[in-house]
Amino acid sequence: MTRIQIFALLLCCSFGSTFTHAGEIQVDINFPGGSAKVESIDQEKRVVTLSPTPHQGKGFVCWWYARISGLQTGETLTLDVGNAPWATPDQAVFSHNNESWQQTKPGLRTGKRIRYEIKVPAAEIWVAWGAPFLLEHAQRTVDLAAKHSFVEAIELCQTRGGNSTPALVITEAPESPERIGIWIQARQHAWESGSSWVCNGFVKWIVSDAPAAQELRKKALITVVPIMDVDNVQIGAGGKNQKPQDHNRDWSDEPHWKAVATAQVAIRDQDQNGNFDLFVDLHNPAAGDKHPYYFIPPKDQFPPIGRRNLKTFLEKSKEQITGPLSFKGRAIESGPKYDRNAWMYISKNWVATHTQDHVVAVTLETAWNTPESTVPNYEQVGRELGLTISKYFEQDRRSQ
Ligand SMILES: [Zn+2]
Repeated sequence: MTRIQIFALLLCCSFGSTFTHAGEIQVDINFPGGSAKVESIDQEKRVVTLSPTPHQGKGFVCWWYARISGLQTGETLTLDVGNAPWATPDQAVFSHNNESWQQTKPGLRTGKRIRYEIKVPAAEIWVAWGAPFLLEHAQRTVDLAAKHSFVEAIELCQTRGGNSTPALVITEAPESPERIGIWIQARQHAWESGSSWVCNGFVKWIVSDAPAAQELRKKALITVVPIMDVDNVQIGAGGKNQKPQDHNRDWSDEPHWKAVATAQVAIRDQDQNGNFDLFVDLHNPAAGDKHPYYFIPPKDQFPPIGRRNLKTFLEKSKEQITGPLSFKGRAIESGPKYDRNAWMYISKNWVATHTQDHVVAVTLETAWNTPESTVPNYEQVGRELGLTISKYFEQDRRSQ
């Protein structure tokens, strides 16, 4: 062996562990939430073309989430994804560890497709529509919170698909007629992973030692459900408009989905005991909605006290949800004009029409298609929702 050969060998050995070589690109979706129909892989040009896995009858075909291996650290991978608008955020996300996510640069659109270029940080990466929030995340949210003595981890229900639906009950308030009841849920639509991150931010805040959180816990019982449609989240389906009906058109006297049925019973119980005050359903909106906003029940269905309370809640939201994802006061009624046949089976409308006059029931839509739509900023909205709620309940909202 010549000296040059030995030098080359040493160089190779000493750096061998930090270099990976471009290999054959492989795409894998065999894990919870995985979704991708691979249309082609151009090994030479390093282009993966995919679309979300279609799931017959399980709603929008928009969520995609895949592991891509056989990459070389530092190379540029092109992801070509369709279809617009629902499956094509301006910026997708990628991760080297399936845990911390960063946005891609804005993709380049051609027709209904978009191309994201990713400077690959590792030989294996995960790519997704948005930062995933799966059953394991919901369980982690619940388990971490339940380390506090004032938090009870519960199972809302077993789903039709046999999955657990983890939830939390948080209170330091003694049982009394004055105790406030609050219900916060996310993810009736499985693809809207950002709404669960908002929920996670709320949970982190409400169990924290922030003075406003402590104060709220001392007077309220707060139930939180991070994922309502666990089954579709776990198989990577979209869920919205699924058969036989959307979770958010299931709030009838005969709900199909167990999470909805169980939530209705719990909310009704609290209301009949005179202990229910606020319902917030967390969602992500359409691609063109660049700021968080609320859907509210049709105002003409309300008695004056309900209208007054809703107005106050929206004002407090504007003061507190200041961003980067900020609520600027937009509130849209979703009554008969919004969905003539099923408006009364939308969660917040069911709550508004089945509980006492003072109760506020709203849907918070947090924008997902902006450079600010990141996990920390979603969690910030959750914290600020907590502050909104604490400000709202600084006064008695039940008296006329
Ligand atoms: Zn939704």
